[in-house]
Amino acid sequence: MTFKLAIVGRPNVGKSTLFNRLVGKRLALVDDQPGVTRDLREGAARLGDLRFTVIDTAGLEEATDESLQGRMRRLTERAVDEADICLFIIDAREGIVGGDQFFAEILRKRARHVILAANKAEGRAGEGGFYDAYSLGLGEPVQLSAEHGEGMEDLYRRLQELR
Ligand code: GDP
Ligand code: MG
Repeated sequence: MTFKLAIVGRPNVGKSTLFNRLVGKRLALVDDQPGVTRDLREGAARLGDLRFTVIDTAGLEEATDESLQGRMRRLTERAVDEADICLFIIDAREGIVGGDQFFAEILRKRARHVILAANKAEGRAGEGGFYDAYSLGLGEPVQLSAEHGEGMEDLYRRLQELR
């Protein structure tokens, strides 16, 4: 049985870095699919023996006429509604900021399952942010370093439990 995982969170927390790590070069041809635009990137992901579809909420960085908040909400809600599991990423080095609460609220209302992840957790700079993350009330965070590939076994176990 396969599933769909949406990677959600504010800009710059490392969503695309994790997406690229999970997908490698197996990027799906999403541009040809109706209703899938380039601001939701979809790929075929692999983690251990798990095979699943991963959605990256890209497009938040591009300037358009629509307000950033409006765009973030629209994109995130679309990703959340499509997904079986949401991976909500915060930046462990920055801790919880207002922007994170915005996403947490969307997830609490709409997501079937949420895995909270504190990314950029390599070294010790991420410890504060990791403990902060409990305050979101979304359960125990997984410590990740998308850039260095740390915490992937923990992420595997959490996906394994939920799928
Ligand atoms: P997105 O906007 O959420 O998609 O974030 P990106 O994946 O584009 O990453 C934003 C920045 O954070 C980039 O400079 C990445 O290299 C950096 N980054 C991503 N993951 C990590 C990590 O695990 N540790 C550190 N230190 N930096 C990271
Ligand atoms: Mg990105």
